[in-house]
Amino acid sequence: MRVLVVEDDKALQHSLTASLRGAGMQTRCTHLGEEALMLEAVGDFDALILDIGLPDIDGFEILTALRGRGSTTPILMLTARDAVSDRVAGLELGADDYLVKPFAPPELVARVRAIARRNRGQAGGAVTIGALTCDWEAGRARVGDRELDLRPREWAALRVLISRVGQVEERDMLAAEVFHQDEAASLNALEVHVGRLRRKLQPDGPGVTNIRGRGYRLDP
Ligand code: CA
Repeated sequence: MRVLVVEDDKALQHSLTASLRGAGMQTRCTHLGEEALMLEAVGDFDALILDIGLPDIDGFEILTALRGRGSTTPILMLTARDAVSDRVAGLELGADDYLVKPFAPPELVARVRAIARRNRGQAGGAVTIGALTCDWEAGRARVGDRELDLRPREWAALRVLISRVGQVEERDMLAAEVFHQDEAASLNALEVHVGRLRRKLQPDGPGVTNIRGRGYRLDP
């Protein structure tokens, strides 16, 4: 399960991420609203945790933009204790639930699971990048008419790279997502999996570029 965390308070972002990962979820974080909108479009998240006060555009604008473009990603809003009007506004704009700060980690995890469960069964959109089309729900990836035979690690790598398309994904971050936290994340092994993925995407799919000393980038 993949969760996008949109929160500009560093300490809170850290504790949110720790709680979700501790529950076996994968997380992607941003402190910027504009980046959240971009990530949500390509990342195929099962849920989004949304703070209201952000440095660029606020959580209400993000909600409006997401629902306006037809996104059905479940959204859990984080609100202040006394901000009843914020909760009402958020729910009216299409948030699925809210959580009042401060909250206990088990409650956070339970609520994220609940909103994601409610959403499941609805159409999970396919992602298209150039000639590549991925349908996560169906477990199918195609380049043009060619069906790709991807192993689980290659799927995991592709998912992460797609969520960061055009940007460098640091090796350590990618390894953490591909191998999960309980396995030794060997960078050599990561290179093997990414190399296989790269070859399967060639010649007409998006390229996977190795940025020496940093990580990988999916080039549309
Ligand atoms: Ca904030």
